[in-house]
Amino acid sequence: MKIGKYSFGIGDRFGHQGEAQLRAIVRAAAAGIDVVPVWNKSNREHSYIHSKPEDTRIEADAAVRTLAYNGNYFVDADHINLSNVQGFLVASDFFTLDVASKIGSASSEAQITAFVASCKKYSGTLNIPGIAHVINVSDQHIISIANKFLAAIAEAGKIYNFIKEQKGADSFVTEVSMDEVESPQTPVEMFFILKMIAEQGIPVQTIAPKFTGRFNKGVDYVGDVAQFSREFEEDVLVIDYAVKEFGLPDNLKLSIHSGSDKFSIYPVIARVIKKYDKGIHVKTAGTTWLEEVIGLALAGGQALELAKQFYKSALDRQEELCAPYADVIDIKQDQLPSASEVDQWDSKKFANTLRHIPGHPDYNPNFRQLIHVGYKIAAESGTVYTGLLEKHHDLVGSCVEENLFDRHLKRLFELGV
Ligand SMILES: [Zn+2]
Repeated sequence: MKIGKYSFGIGDRFGHQGEAQLRAIVRAAAAGIDVVPVWNKSNREHSYIHSKPEDTRIEADAAVRTLAYNGNYFVDADHINLSNVQGFLVASDFFTLDVASKIGSASSEAQITAFVASCKKYSGTLNIPGIAHVINVSDQHIISIANKFLAAIAEAGKIYNFIKEQKGADSFVTEVSMDEVESPQTPVEMFFILKMIAEQGIPVQTIAPKFTGRFNKGVDYVGDVAQFSREFEEDVLVIDYAVKEFGLPDNLKLSIHSGSDKFSIYPVIARVIKKYDKGIHVKTAGTTWLEEVIGLALAGGQALELAKQFYKSALDRQEELCAPYADVIDIKQDQLPSASEVDQWDSKKFANTLRHIPGHPDYNPNFRQLIHVGYKIAAESGTVYTGLLEKHHDLVGSCVEENLFDRHLKRLFELGV
C-alpha cells in the first residue's frame, strides 16, 4: 500500500470536522494538486477526549462517503509504540512508529561492531550526490551514531513486525518518527538511520526527524530559516541517495510533525520539493480544534461565552495544561490578556486574537497556544461543547475549511487560486 506524493495530516480531536477538512482537500484537487488526506490521532489525544481509533475511522469513512471522494485516504495511528499499538490495528492503515524514547538505549557491542563494519564503504569521505561540501565521517562518528540510534531502530523493527503479523505486509503505510526529542538529527545521522531502517526490513514511506528550530504547537516556526533550509535540502538529498543505496521504497519522503502554521518555512519546503521533484507529508498539531473555537466565538451568544470560558479556565489551570506540552509551547505570561479583558471582547475581537494571521494587529500567539493546550477543558464540558459544534455546524466548518485550504494547502503547494 503506497501513499501518494503529497499528503497532509488532518488531526481532528473531537471528530466533528472530517467533512470540512475533506472539502479543503477537494478544493486543492480542483486547483490542480492531489493531496492525500491522513486523519491522524495519537493515543494521548484519544485518552484526553475519551475517543477510540474506530471513531476516527468512522469519521473518515463518513466524510469520504458524503463528499463522494474517490481519492486515497488514510487513518494514522500517530506516535504509537508496542504498548499501545493493539488498539489501532483494525482502524488504522497508517502507523507512525515512535521510537524517540529509545534513542540512546544500549545495544550489544557485537551489534555496534557489526553495524560499523557494514558501513565501511561510507567511512572517510561520504559523498551524497547533490551535496557539494565534503562530509567527513570517521569510524568513531559511526560508532556514536550506532550507540544513539541502533536500539531505537531495532524497536521500530519490532513494532513494524508486530503490525505486519496482525494485518499483513501490504495493508498499511509505515512512518518512523523521532521528532519528540531534545536535539535535532543531522542529515548525516539521518543517512545512517535509514541504513538501520533498511536492515530491519521496514518499508518506511515517511520519516519524521526532529528538525532544527522550534516547532511549537499551533504557531509559526521559531528558528534560523536559512539553517532549516540548508538542512531540509540536505535531508531530501540524503533520502534520495539512501533509497538507491539501501533499497528503501522509492516514494520515501519527509514528514514534518507539528507542521501546521509553520508559514515562514512553507516557501522553503515548496522550493526544495519542487527543485528535486519530491513528495512531502505534513502533520498538523491538532489545530482544527482552534478553528472550532473561532467558529463558536463568531457565532456569538452562548457559543462566544463558552469560548471565553475555555480561555478563562485555561488561564486558571495553566500549569496543569501546559506541563505535558512544556517542550513544544512558548507562552509569554505578560502577553496573555486577563480574564476581565476577554470578558469585554466581542466575537470579532476574540476570533481575530485567536486566528493565525501573521501581522494582524489582534493576533496573539500566546493566547492561541494557551487555548490550544486547553482542549482538555472542552473535552470535560462534553455535550455542552459538541452540542454547540453541531448547532453551528456550517459556520464552524467554514472556519476549518478556510484554515486548511487558504492558510495551509495554498501556501504549501503554491496554489495561485
Ligand atoms: Zn510528532
